[in-house]
Amino acid sequence: MKRSIRDLVGLEGKRVLLRADFNLPMNKVGKITDTTRVVSELPTIRYLVERGAKVIICSHLGRPKGFEFRLSLWPVALILMKYFPGKVQFAHKVIGDEVAKQVESMSNGSILLLENVRFYKEETENDPEFAKHLASLADIYVNDAFGVAHRKHASTFGVARLLPNAIGFLMENEINTIEEAIKNPKKPFVAIFGGAKVQDKIKVILNIAKVADSILVGGAMAYSFLVAQGHTIGQSLINAESVSSASQILDELKTMGKRIVLPIDHIAYNLSDKKMKPFQTEVLSGDMVGADIGPKTINLFEEEIGRARQIVWNGPLGKYEDEKFKAGTFKIAKAIAKSKAYSIVGGGDSVSAVKQAKCDKLINHISTGGGASLKLMSGEDLPGIDVIQEKYI
Ligand code: ADP
Ligand code: MG
Repeated sequence: MKRSIRDLVGLEGKRVLLRADFNLPMNKVGKITDTTRVVSELPTIRYLVERGAKVIICSHLGRPKGFEFRLSLWPVALILMKYFPGKVQFAHKVIGDEVAKQVESMSNGSILLLENVRFYKEETENDPEFAKHLASLADIYVNDAFGVAHRKHASTFGVARLLPNAIGFLMENEINTIEEAIKNPKKPFVAIFGGAKVQDKIKVILNIAKVADSILVGGAMAYSFLVAQGHTIGQSLINAESVSSASQILDELKTMGKRIVLPIDHIAYNLSDKKMKPFQTEVLSGDMVGADIGPKTINLFEEEIGRARQIVWNGPLGKYEDEKFKAGTFKIAKAIAKSKAYSIVGGGDSVSAVKQAKCDKLINHISTGGGASLKLMSGEDLPGIDVIQEKYI
């Protein structure tokens, strides 16, 4: 078990470098569209502020190449100022004399938000000198950026090795919830997978299959499984690699004696019909492209969900971004929300779909990390967690 901020004593006056995940979604003109990630970070920040720590917050935003004005964290500083009036300052740099001076002038219980750490290429290179500069700003390092826990970057990994460290509340909650669901699942445990890339999800499907009672598969990835089983799928989205991944999974599931449930009907469109009018089909062939699960499949999945005591869901069941093909994903989101099962949803698109379907409040755990939650569910080690000290040493 990793050391948490609860285990840190004597925080008064200590400089704490908090790695947060303020990678907020933005629209085309760079306006922040959702502040959930800031709100989720408030308990950790409050805990540190209330104990008189000097809280230096570091985060990335987007994937800048050098300094990019539209990816500045300044708008996030403005959001923080609303929650901590009079306590927040912004640093236009991440390292250097200017920042060091700002840190020196911090009073106990105040906050300094550093500029976007990815403005420095040294961050993603996990540059040791850069990590040293970061470490020099603080006495203690706290990692609460679950969304990037699978990255071996200077601010998520390098710096952690140079300072006494701990995880924050958000990270602790993610680890405990996901690990518990995999180690001690409530039965029947139904896992639902969708989305586009089977290759990216082999490990997670197989690891969850070890403990799940049934695996439901929809979305584009279902077509790779259908092809692997010898069905025709028309022009639906597949590639050679995804089909071979799907057959590998099918073989292993067979050996494990696990049940996989694939779509029995689809909402499809004709490739040559530019209007893309949706229609239902049992069997896909010719120019037809499967873009959502059909009504019979929805019923079938709903029955499985109704029997479940635990559900893990990753990956939309259709092209949910398109009004015509969102019904499958939204109906399954609603069924999960309504069910009595303990539910976990992970993955960037899946979480976004659940929110759009207005089901997020009824899901037990919405993971804040896409890639990170999949890795954790796969039973893989995440560098950003691994590097943190154990609770008892
Ligand atoms: P997550 O981010 O939740 O892990 P993925 O990124 O794996 O999910 O998959 C989401 C993408 O999969 C969406 O962009 C969605 O449009 C696409 N998708 C799902 N089903 C289909 C389909 N039948 N055909 C094409 N794309 C699909
Ligand atoms: Mg995605």
